[in-house]
Parts: sequence; C-alpha cells; structure tokens
Amino acid sequence: MTAWEIKGWCPGALRPMQSGDGLVVRIRPPLGRLTPQQAEAIATAAETYGNGIIDLSARANLQLRGVTEASHPRLIDDLRAHSLIDPDIETESLRNLIMTPFRDAESTALAATLTAALTRMPNLPSKFGFALDTGPRPVLMQASADIRVERAADGRLILRPDGHPLGQRVTDFGQQAIAMANWFVQSGGVTNGRGRMAALIAKGHIPPNCTLAPAEPLPTPTPGLHPDGALVALAFGQMRAETLHALAAPGHELRPTPWRMLLIVGARTLPQIPGLITDPTDPILRITACTGAPACPQAQGDTRGLARHLAPHLAATQTLHISGCAKGCAHPSAAETTLTATGTGYDLIRNGTAHDTPSLTALTPQAILDHLKAPNAPHL
Ligand code: SF4
Repeated sequence: MTAWEIKGWCPGALRPMQSGDGLVVRIRPPLGRLTPQQAEAIATAAETYGNGIIDLSARANLQLRGVTEASHPRLIDDLRAHSLIDPDIETESLRNLIMTPFRDAESTALAATLTAALTRMPNLPSKFGFALDTGPRPVLMQASADIRVERAADGRLILRPDGHPLGQRVTDFGQQAIAMANWFVQSGGVTNGRGRMAALIAKGHIPPNCTLAPAEPLPTPTPGLHPDGALVALAFGQMRAETLHALAAPGHELRPTPWRMLLIVGARTLPQIPGLITDPTDPILRITACTGAPACPQAQGDTRGLARHLAPHLAATQTLHISGCAKGCAHPSAAETTLTATGTGYDLIRNGTAHDTPSLTALTPQAILDHLKAPNAPHL
C-alpha cells in the first residue's frame, strides 16, 4: 500500500488528467515532429484554453496545463484542425512512440509501418511503448520504452525488448513488432492491465532470436549546435506559450525529445529566447524536479522554486532530485541525492529513491542551503 495515488495510465488529449491546476492535456506530436504552424497553434491554444504553461514530457510529448472542462472541446477542435489529434481515445493511447530527433531516411517509413501495425497489436498496458532509435548509434536507451528499434554495429536494424541486451535482426518490422508484443502478453507480461517489458525480462523470459547487440550508445546530448540543428533545453521541461511562439516564428520544424530539450531542425545558430537554456553547464539542468505544489494535488511542498534557489549553490558535477511527494514521478529510480517534501519540510535521501529511508528529515529550505554552503559539511 502506498501513500500516493498510482494512476497506471497516461493522459492524452482526448482523455486528459485532472491536476491541481486544471486538466492536463497531452499532445503526442505525429512522427515526433511539429511543423512551425503546429507549434504556433499549440502556443495559441495554451493561451486560449489553458493557463499558458506547456510541459515537455519524458516521452517527448507536449502537455497543456490549466485546461477546463468547458474549454476542452474547443481546444480539441483547434488541435484537430492542425492534425494534432488522433481519431479516437483507443488510437491515441496505442500511439506510445518515441523517435530519435536525429533521423535518417528510414525513420519516417519505419514510424508509418509501426503506426499501421499498432491496430493489430494485442491489448497492451497503457504505459507500454516503442522507441524508434534508428540513428547510427542509440540515444534513447534511458527513455521509457518496451520495444526498441536500434542499429547494430554493422548499421542494420534490430528489434530489442527493453531490459535485454540483445535484439532480433529486423526483416519484417511490422510483423516482428506485433510478434514481440504478442510474446509479451502470452508470456505473462500483463497483470491487472499493467506490466512492462523490462520487468518480464527480469523474470528470465527472453523472446526468440535475440542474438544481436545494439551499437555503442551515445551519451545523452546537451544543449548546443548539432549536425541536425540546435538543441535547446527547458528548465524542468516547462515553458510558457510565449517561448513556443518565439520558437515557431523562424519557421523551423521542431522535434521534442525525452531529455527536456527541443531540436530546432536546421538551425545554425542558438536562439536567444527567454525561457530557453542553451548553456550545457547551467546548473538547473542538473536538477530534476517534478511539478510539486500547488499544481500537483498530491504534493507535500514546493519543488521548482526550491530548485531555482539551490541551483547556484550546487557543486560543479552535483545532481539533485527534488520530489513533491514520495511517489518520485520525475525520477523513479535512485538518484545521487533526493529531497522529498513531506509537509513538515524535506527529507534528504542519499543514493535512493524519493521513498527510501532518509538520512536527514524535516529540513527547511534554509537548512538545505546551509548544508550546501557549509564547507566541511558532508556533501549533499
Ligand atoms: S512526485 Fe511530484 S508530480 Fe508526482 S505525485 Fe508527487 S508531487 Fe505530484
């Protein structure tokens, strides 16, 4: 039994989720990209129907916040007019697909094949997803996905179940993706409508013909200029509609990434737009903080205000996870240092998750800062 609520499903646009600041409406960009016109439409919709805040999720989707029951239908109409809405809830919930922002000629065709195959998949848990990580070397291994398409060292494609080091040579991508999803269900991967591939693999189940390793993965990219364009980061993956308007204005395609960054395709200079982080050494990039209070109804305290307060005092390579409650949405795995809001201050957990045993409890923001500044204090 946990003290927090486990929803077990992801919000969409057609099936939004209630939060502390209204409905959260998640837009899954078709083929992982936004035309400048679509980006402009989303920015306008965020201002018109929501509170102007736009999140970039860990699955490279965009979320509008502060939408009301009354404004939701008109929002959907506007987004549908820009081809940003699936035909129905079932199609929307099936389309859990992350694509590498660094594409090659094959990526779009593979995405179309997978999209068509989704309708022939078995009944999969709503968090079950796919990653098309088809650049020369994988970059999405840390992003949430259950079935991954990557390249082996020889450049040919493999289909790899998450949690297993080896994958199958791709010969008929659509059929193989369906077969692996069927294998997952038939091997007992789903319990009470939930389940993830890595958990099934961890129990010793391995799909057939998985014999090929992916190429050496690339490190997670940082903000700056890349061969495909300019990567810009958003503090905590959040921006205001004005920032998206400014990003859309020069007319570049935008590709959301699972790293709280957007790729401005083809840009040769870094934009100077308020709300964007272009310096890879900015300490705010080393802090992970969930929505927290007041926008999340389960939060026991502020997260992002504290993060901005602490960021200038972090040591050069130090990382920090700040969680509004013990659920730890923003960083479910263990972190070097976690601060968990409890309602009576913050618990400090070292090398653990937001709900692990703390080494210090009931810290005030000032006590945390003092701890950071004290020269001989144990490192936070
Ligand atoms: S971890 Fe953060 S976002 Fe998740 S439920 Fe708790 S307060 Fe809300």
